[in-house]
Amino acid sequence: MRGELVAIDLETTGLDPQADRILEFGGVRIVDGEIVEEYNTLINPGCSIPPYITHLTGITDEDVADAPILRDVHRKIHQFIKDVPVIAHNVSFDLSFLRANGLAPNNLPVDTYELASILLPSAVRYNLNSLTMDAGIQLDYAHRALHDARATAKLYWYLWEKALTLPTAILNEIAETALHLKIPAARFFTSAIEEQTARNIATQTKTPHNTFFSLYNKGTSTLQPTPTPQTIVQDEIVDLLGEHSPLAKTMPDYEHRPQQIDMAKAVASAFNRGEHLLVEAGTGTGKSIAYLMPAALWALQNGQRVVISTGTINLQEQLLNNDIPLVKAALGHDELRAAVMKGRSNYLCPRRLETVRRRKPTNIEEWRLLAKILVWLLEDQSGDKNGISLRGLAEHSVWQRLSAEDEGCTMEQCAKMGGICPFFKARKAAEAAHILIVNHALLVSDAASDNHVLPEYDYVIIDEAHDFEAAVTSGMSYRIDEAALRRRIADLGDLSNGLLGAVAKAGQQYLPDRKAQKLIAYMQDMVAASQSMRVVVQKLYQAVYHFLVEEEVARSAEYTITHRLTPQNRQKTAFQQIQRIWVKLEEYLSTLHDALGQLINAIQRMEEATEQQRDNLLNSIAATMRYFEMVYEELHQFFIEPDSNMVYWIAFNSDPKQASLQSAPLHIGPLVENYLWEKKRSVVLTSATLQTANSFEYIQQRLYAEHIQAIDVGSPFDYRQSTLVYLPSDIPEPNDRQGKYQKMLERAIIELATALGGRIMVLFTSYSHLRQTAQAVGPRLALGDIEIFTQSDGTSREALLDGFQETERAVLLGTRSFWQGVDIPGDSLSGLIMARLPFAVPSDPIFAARSETYTNSFSTFAVPDAILRFRQGFGRLIRRKTDKGVFVIFDKRVLTKNYGNQFLESLPDCEIRQGPLSALPEAAAQWLQLGENVRSE
Ligand code: SF4
Repeated sequence: MRGELVAIDLETTGLDPQADRILEFGGVRIVDGEIVEEYNTLINPGCSIPPYITHLTGITDEDVADAPILRDVHRKIHQFIKDVPVIAHNVSFDLSFLRANGLAPNNLPVDTYELASILLPSAVRYNLNSLTMDAGIQLDYAHRALHDARATAKLYWYLWEKALTLPTAILNEIAETALHLKIPAARFFTSAIEEQTARNIATQTKTPHNTFFSLYNKGTSTLQPTPTPQTIVQDEIVDLLGEHSPLAKTMPDYEHRPQQIDMAKAVASAFNRGEHLLVEAGTGTGKSIAYLMPAALWALQNGQRVVISTGTINLQEQLLNNDIPLVKAALGHDELRAAVMKGRSNYLCPRRLETVRRRKPTNIEEWRLLAKILVWLLEDQSGDKNGISLRGLAEHSVWQRLSAEDEGCTMEQCAKMGGICPFFKARKAAEAAHILIVNHALLVSDAASDNHVLPEYDYVIIDEAHDFEAAVTSGMSYRIDEAALRRRIADLGDLSNGLLGAVAKAGQQYLPDRKAQKLIAYMQDMVAASQSMRVVVQKLYQAVYHFLVEEEVARSAEYTITHRLTPQNRQKTAFQQIQRIWVKLEEYLSTLHDALGQLINAIQRMEEATEQQRDNLLNSIAATMRYFEMVYEELHQFFIEPDSNMVYWIAFNSDPKQASLQSAPLHIGPLVENYLWEKKRSVVLTSATLQTANSFEYIQQRLYAEHIQAIDVGSPFDYRQSTLVYLPSDIPEPNDRQGKYQKMLERAIIELATALGGRIMVLFTSYSHLRQTAQAVGPRLALGDIEIFTQSDGTSREALLDGFQETERAVLLGTRSFWQGVDIPGDSLSGLIMARLPFAVPSDPIFAARSETYTNSFSTFAVPDAILRFRQGFGRLIRRKTDKGVFVIFDKRVLTKNYGNQFLESLPDCEIRQGPLSALPEAAAQWLQLGENVRSE
């Protein structure tokens, strides 16, 4: 839209338009993209400003003490906004505050967040700051109303110009469905079409769906294994990795590392003998090259693919973009091929996409994602989820339904799609690859199901194996919530919409009248049954809520609350009430299953329909049946017949009425044994942290790997020179209720950060602890010109890490994902504080259920489990040979409890000192200064 528009931004005292107040209004009027007028005012909210708002906006109580109250500027704001369309980033938030105060009641909302999420489908982040940065728009002071309003106006115009570059047919498709669903953004897209027409830049050709996707490159063929495998010669490994190797010439920061050679030889030997192996290789070993070299040799000389499984996408990218090219160059083998294969849900299914385009989206979430996908496919033909930026549960859930997940399709069907199917292409590339990279969850779930996403393989290397159990557990977990279940039932539609609508339409078109009428009558009953089924689902979840109330766990909280189902609470009356409702729902599900089967018969009789039309309907019905079969099986186990190797629980975030039903495997050891140890010729597990208290016993026992050889190749780092472990001796234990522990932690962060000029990371075990600490130390660090990056403000992990490394004086507060996989080499990170020993939360359902399978669960399960995380956390500090740092264990239990020593013994040989907290800053500064001297020598 061009013409007159107003871009606004508000700063407020909180998020609730009924309870919170407006603090600042900023607005700019634009006409045809040019800013012609601005208005900005602070507003006295009549209450004190919460500290985190002051921290975010910089607006203090003093700033607004003499500002007008809203009533005084109400008229001025009203006159500024008039009745023109209002643009804002997350417009519903700003409009909710204005409308709660009687302003902008009927103005058309224009949301730059929504438009950006469609028109910039690959943006890494959608906050105003990042979008304006990506678009080259200057934003001087984020979170101040006028600056944000100006940036929003410019961003709007950038998006408008982007829309004008789209094919008219795509704009039309987006606009038509938006109009049909009465989505306010419809006006933006219809205006773009009018503008294209007026400027004579409209394109009239429709974009056929197969031009959205690139074609499969038929140039590569499947690997052909040699009849007799040829073993790897150990000397070759030494030649390839040693001081005079080709790698030494090609690798920019090559270092001769005996540990790397030892590991490579051990992997080669495991492959040669067809044995399994566990290898702990400390940080700095260069373990990915150490396993890639023998893996590549094996695959090339024997025509047998080697699968490499990782826990993180970061490692997958590192292998593909850095390490494999180095190995390829060192081997001088251009034909070494590598590919990444992901789970089915990562690939867009062209057939499903076409079906939704044809039947049109039925809700705003589906419309948004379809629009985004259409724009994305114009820029990126991969169809790989990695290339599109999905936001929120809603987009993920719609993607899931458009993905190859559950499709149950065969390669023959793929062939019918003319080689455009992204899943088909990935599968073909996987078949041709010598090195196939996958993730842990896919590795095990594929082996354990008939899915067969992965081609045949016998040799596997599992990197980041410390996380293998958790990743496989999470990949094999189920979660069924009311909203998703009701949405899937709603997707069945009625006689004019959704799946049933499509079948009804086809029936009327392709069946003789009498048969069509019979089908319609039958489907009328199905529509009525599906409506009743939604009511039963609602009742089921109400009964779940009632059960939570009876169990006295239904409360609102900032964190996720879980309630495990045990043989005891399954006996409770409230649970039996859920079971009764479930039995009713079971009947509906099995009737629905039979009815869908009848529709399949009817479709097969539609002889006049084309094969593709029939296939599309049949595939959609088959996918729907599979979904409801999964629901049936999972919930039947959940409510009636629990599997003894599964854990079941109910979880909710802030609202116990929105609970989800979840399950996960109790142990993954049997799966690993069945599908890896017993079926594969050689499996190598590796990580920098596999041992607890210098023993592999714990991980071997968790993965049923007691019979497997385990070796520790050590680390080339000299931790005695590089790392000071400081144990404050005068702090209370973390469970201190007087608040003294917390005060001392805050003091430690501030004083250490001041002494080191930032450069510290603090690892927490819970979000609430992190948030509480961030709020307390943030303003005080700001006084010392130290910026704080915290995982609690919604910023992505990557953005936080970038910000921390790019800012000279910075402190990073992280939890969960920051305990592993964070690689900050050099001086950016010189101090690491561990706020607590990372024991699992005892009430976590999976942890609690696993604990119950031990006689002495604390010492044989909880402690080693925590030690593995502790070692991972410690590993964030020293990333290169030249790094030097201070590790502060801010948990006195390491000194006072019997198990404390096991944590300390799990560390490499470092300089360990105990002392008062007050001596920490100086000790740290001295230690690091010594490091600078050493480095300059
Ligand atoms: S082969 Fe499967 S994923 Fe690919 S287009 Fe066909 S149905 Fe979709």
